[in-house]
Amino acid sequence: MNEPDQLRLLAVHAHPDDESSKGAATMAKYVAEGARVLVATCTGGERGSVLNPAMDRPEVWERLPQIRVEEMARAREILGVEQEFLGFVDSGLPEGDPLPPLPDGCFALVPVEEAAAPLVALIRRFKPQVITTYDERGGYPHPDHIKTHEISVHAFDAAGDPDRYPELGEPWQPSKLYYHMSFTLPRTKALHEAILATGVESPYTEWLANWDPAHDISHRVTTRVPCAEYFPVRDAALIAHATQIDPEGRWFACPPETQQQVWPTEDYELARTLVDVPVPEGDLFTGIRSEVGVR
Ligand SMILES: [Zn+2]
Repeated sequence: MNEPDQLRLLAVHAHPDDESSKGAATMAKYVAEGARVLVATCTGGERGSVLNPAMDRPEVWERLPQIRVEEMARAREILGVEQEFLGFVDSGLPEGDPLPPLPDGCFALVPVEEAAAPLVALIRRFKPQVITTYDERGGYPHPDHIKTHEISVHAFDAAGDPDRYPELGEPWQPSKLYYHMSFTLPRTKALHEAILATGVESPYTEWLANWDPAHDISHRVTTRVPCAEYFPVRDAALIAHATQIDPEGRWFACPPETQQQVWPTEDYELARTLVDVPVPEGDLFTGIRSEVGVR
């Protein structure tokens, strides 16, 4: 199943729709270049809400988990990726003060050693050279996103070790692990200013006013992947998640042409690498192409 000279990228995400909002243009670009790209979706998004007013109807709520599987299938086709669910149950985003306890059996409550097992098995089967995931804060403070980070780091280290999870297949050591870093203060400011320059009100004004510069992550960016050409593919995949994405909402507040001009990359932090690569870099496969004989 795996050609020796093939580039393979595994993107680990928490819920259906996360793959389309984080790193989607990067994935579409690598697919177009002939790489294999596999999305691992940890949960089914069962506890998600309906976030698009046009879809907020009883018949949608009644079969939301099934609809999210169908939406994921459409997004998968649009992006040209492969996709598998790891089979965990959405933890939901706890709200209130004090926060309510997490529901029994949810993904966030599964111990890391156990929760990482399906991902270790998938890594050993798919043999990715590169894995992408969220940073230690989840990129966004949802318990499933933080758990996704934890199992990704754990599996990156364990998959290549013959003494760990020996029942889950032949060891495979991925070479590079990246964290998504696209939602940074400099990018949002740049988009904000470009929108204002056209004489239109910016959707980011309030967001920027509340943004504590101490929480900016842009200094961690090591890798900017040029993928502006694929922003329309990303947007089409997002729209496929119709229960989650309001076409009138904030994801589409900045016209794609503006984004293509002002910030034509998706950005990452190289968190772990077993190949010697100089940073900054512009390609997740830097240092790997020569090894596998792909230019
Ligand atoms: Zn999510």
